[in-house]
Amino acid sequence: MEEKISQIQKDYLEKIQKTKSLKELDEIFLALFGKNGQITLIPKGFSRIAKEELKTLAPLFIAAKNDLEKAIEKRRKEVREESYKALESEKLSLQGDALEPRKGHLHLATQFKQEIIELFEKLGFYQFDAPHVEWDKYNFEYLNIPRDHPSRDMWDTLYVDTSGLEVEPGQMLLRTHTSNFWPRLMEKGKTPIRAMSFDRCFRYEAIDARHSHTFNQFEVAVVGEKITMANLKFLSDYLLKAILGKEAKSRFRPKYYPFVEPGVGIDCLCVFCHGRGCKICSGTGWFEIAGAGMIHPNVFKSTGLDPKKYTGLAWGFGPDRMLMIKHEIEDIRYFLEGDLKFLQEH
Ligand SMILES: [Zn+2]
Repeated sequence: MEEKISQIQKDYLEKIQKTKSLKELDEIFLALFGKNGQITLIPKGFSRIAKEELKTLAPLFIAAKNDLEKAIEKRRKEVREESYKALESEKLSLQGDALEPRKGHLHLATQFKQEIIELFEKLGFYQFDAPHVEWDKYNFEYLNIPRDHPSRDMWDTLYVDTSGLEVEPGQMLLRTHTSNFWPRLMEKGKTPIRAMSFDRCFRYEAIDARHSHTFNQFEVAVVGEKITMANLKFLSDYLLKAILGKEAKSRFRPKYYPFVEPGVGIDCLCVFCHGRGCKICSGTGWFEIAGAGMIHPNVFKSTGLDPKKYTGLAWGFGPDRMLMIKHEIEDIRYFLEGDLKFLQEH
């Protein structure tokens, strides 16, 4: 029995010294002092041992037991100290490899705006942005759309409530087109004018996949001497080829806009079927893309320019519609919604 006790003591003191974690120490503690631990079981055999012998054996056992307990406790402290030291030397890193920064990008309409602006800057056009909240005269009257004239029905206008202001009712509105920018420039009288605007317009629309209360328009205006329909044709082909590819071709159809004479609707040869007819062009081989015309003499008169001396052209299109065709976007409402899936795809 004496030998057995000193053997256990010797073996386990060695094991305790070799431990590296608190978990290992717990396991050793259980192996010694658990319900069936080696130290726990020893006193159970004392009843079979002679009393004389027990007098020397018992203190030996107690000493071994205390010795092992102390050794475990001591090693526990050491292991803790070691782990604290290891923590100190570890570098704290908050940038995990998996956390790559997400890059955003410009909205599709903004990208397109930059592209178009750059394209027309090359031809010497400069940007001029007119107010979104506009006076009736710039949005309608100067544009040969007098008050109470039936042609006003072509625009579903949102009027600003001016009660409480010293403004005649119905005189302040949200502009229905970007066309308000060129009467403002013509009124200033600085010719020649070669300006453009890519901006928002507003209408009282029943909203669906193709109509929105807020939408973009791009418009150019040229005023000077000897401006003709040939300039209009050149601008149309220039834009379509740049946006839709070299094969793009334009055709003019007579169309009525009160502020131009003659007025034209501009069709583009369908780039998807090359004129054979497909779903996108509704089988016609062409799709309407822009509206334009030679500025009406009445616009010159109301802005104070001489229609005998000057001529001019105005040319515009809906960039949202062009983008819908180009990227096969089914619903115009995507342009105003913050839909993440749509934004990531475009
Ligand atoms: Zn087609």
